[in-house]
Amino acid sequence: MRSVLFLLLSPVLFAAPPNVLILFSDDQGSADLSCQGSKDIPTPNIDSLAKNGVRCTQGYVSSCMCSPSRAGLLTGRSQSRFGHEINWEGRDDTGVRGLPVTEKTLADHLKAAGYRTGCVGKWHLGDVAKFHPKQRGFDEYFGHIGGSHDYFASKDGGKGGTYALEGWDGKPFEFENDYLTDIKGRAACEFIRKGDAAKPWFLYVAFNAPHGPLQASEKYLSRFAGIADKKRRTYAAMVSALDDAVGAILGELKARGMEENTLIFFLSDNGGPLDRNGSLNTPLSGEKGYMLEGGIRTPYLVQWKAKLPAWKVYDQPVSSLDISATALAAAKTEAPANLDGVDLVPYFRGEKEGRPHDVLYCRMTARCIWAICMGDWKLVMHNG
Ligand code: CA
Repeated sequence: MRSVLFLLLSPVLFAAPPNVLILFSDDQGSADLSCQGSKDIPTPNIDSLAKNGVRCTQGYVSSCMCSPSRAGLLTGRSQSRFGHEINWEGRDDTGVRGLPVTEKTLADHLKAAGYRTGCVGKWHLGDVAKFHPKQRGFDEYFGHIGGSHDYFASKDGGKGGTYALEGWDGKPFEFENDYLTDIKGRAACEFIRKGDAAKPWFLYVAFNAPHGPLQASEKYLSRFAGIADKKRRTYAAMVSALDDAVGAILGELKARGMEENTLIFFLSDNGGPLDRNGSLNTPLSGEKGYMLEGGIRTPYLVQWKAKLPAWKVYDQPVSSLDISATALAAAKTEAPANLDGVDLVPYFRGEKEGRPHDVLYCRMTARCIWAICMGDWKLVMHNG
């Protein structure tokens, strides 16, 4: 009887707009997931997205640096269109630095479509009040406005200034004897748990892991006693914490019956900075801050069990700019004409063939670097 009821309800359930979840890591090497070939950092929870969904082997972000990559991700537009090409380079018409307020975010669009919207973690799109996530389409926010944050409570992290950790209530979130990646994982679970189950939601979880400072708790360090290099060991522990946090979030979805109809993306904001945090982009050349493959090509996983195939490996180039277009199409909301991305679902389902993009490009004028990918060719202006 229960299964008959489920079958009757299924079309209704799957026709409902999906929840949208973006899991964004920071400065993670493209090789630093088991599903991307890592041999020394097991990441079973993040890998589960590849098993239950699509792994894109040519997933690009729109910039090789933190802030502009976030500007592209959240607007679905090339950040070059609005002058946000370098960390803090974006300015509004008063000269204040941040994601220009003339730009709409995916949260703005989904909120207008009736979604509850939340942001957990690193913002890095402007320090002053008008750039705050709650002014940029997010109903709820838990995180740190600045681009970097200590992982343990300290004099510089977790207290005071724009780098304070801000709780759901807008007040400083004090923490002792805790670890920031664990805290973010729990905050994401809280957002999922406390909502009205009948209302779709959009949650953007911006982990700062495994961006520096290199700090990991003993719980995670103890998993990597076999790695002799201290930097690599600490980095591995930070990625392992990230994997645990993703596991907690996926577990929360399952417990709430939301696993089938949640569209999930996992990617990093830019490639690994190699020596600076012990990451690996193997076999790609280059690193964070450059337009070679290692700077802009990251893990890119997509799961939507109700609609997308499992165990799919997709080899055509895709972009972080596609996430807005894909999410808005999934929500059956008309995407603004000015977006640069495309809906990837028909490509992943095999309903559309060929490349989603004729051309992909990214540019950082201040450093005189850029790249254009066209067909099987890539032209790079490298200034290293
Ligand atoms: Ca970054």
